[in-house]
Amino acid sequence: MSRNELPFRPDVARLAGYVPGEQPRESGWVKLNTNENPYPPSPGVVAALKQAAEGRLNLYPDPLGVEFCRVAGEALGVDPEWILPGNGSDEILTILMRTFVDAGQRIAYPYPSYVLYETLAEIQGAVVDRIPLTDDWSWPVDDARQRLQGCRLLLVPNPNSPSGNRFPDEDLKAIVPDGGVLVLDEAYGDFVDVPHRGELLHAAECQRRMVLTRTLSKSYSLAGLRLGYGVAHPDLVAGMRKVKDSYNCDTLSLAAATAALGDADWMIENTRKIRATRQRLVDGLVDRGFDVVPSQANFVWATHPDGEHDRRFELLKQQRVLVRFMVFAAEEPRRDGLRITVGTDDQIDRLFEALDGIGS
Ligand SMILES: *Cc1c(COP(=O)(O)O)cnc(C)c1O
Repeated sequence: MSRNELPFRPDVARLAGYVPGEQPRESGWVKLNTNENPYPPSPGVVAALKQAAEGRLNLYPDPLGVEFCRVAGEALGVDPEWILPGNGSDEILTILMRTFVDAGQRIAYPYPSYVLYETLAEIQGAVVDRIPLTDDWSWPVDDARQRLQGCRLLLVPNPNSPSGNRFPDEDLKAIVPDGGVLVLDEAYGDFVDVPHRGELLHAAECQRRMVLTRTLSKSYSLAGLRLGYGVAHPDLVAGMRKVKDSYNCDTLSLAAATAALGDADWMIENTRKIRATRQRLVDGLVDRGFDVVPSQANFVWATHPDGEHDRRFELLKQQRVLVRFMVFAAEEPRRDGLRITVGTDDQIDRLFEALDGIGS
């Protein structure tokens, strides 16, 4: 090591680092780039935050979040021991890597999907196998099974991002890696047309071999709060608890998230509105010449036959409409396009005006 080199671990020195979507600080933007919910959280959340803030902030929080686990478990029909709360579901992903993957071991994830998995694996010194999705964004089940030998974790967003499609349960049961764990990242699970309650966890193929991750960030309108959770057989949760920080969730987020889950009707009404707007968004984009993947999430993946996605992204941005321009360049053919969050009807009208302003 030369004198000027900083003493990073080689894995960290090599790392490009995950780049989250832009968060402009000034108002006036139509922000459709990071899949936040355009509606506020339940009023019960603010009441719970006030109450918790006036309580005992001098004391450490409940290290296990017992009350949160009780409410989350009830919602999913499992015992509280199946729930592991975290500082956003991203932290649960970090805990999964640290619990199940040693340096040099392999993880896999579908490509294109959530590239944060890759960053987390690289920090751990793990080897990453991208499993290319087919042109219509479905699983190459047979091909994938071959490649999953010796894989410690297979991480799958469902619905997928950036495409928004949902993989069928039958495909998922078929890809639980031998000797490893299937992680289903259900960040967008509440936006599907036919919701479920984690039934797959109880399928014979998945017992003690599968972890669901969920978040309050998207459907519950609480991205600013940081609370997500894992759901898994208590034997798996027990191992993950050994790895997590003692106080990984604070008193305020636990109180707020518990109140949010307790008012599921509020979330259901918001997701209903978002699904209705999603249809308007899809129809409007198709009218303007885009191809749109059928979405079960609160965003859509739109491509245009002329391929000028970067240009559209910039021209929209000049009009203060922010969407996400994404490029996925693997061994497979490069794919790029625009991932557009479903906002309010007014926000989507602003997007359409802006698109029409640039000749779509
Ligand atoms: C938004 C998102 C998350 C992160 O959720 P947090 O709980 O806010 O950390 C995880 N996975 C996917 C696929 C996401 O899009």
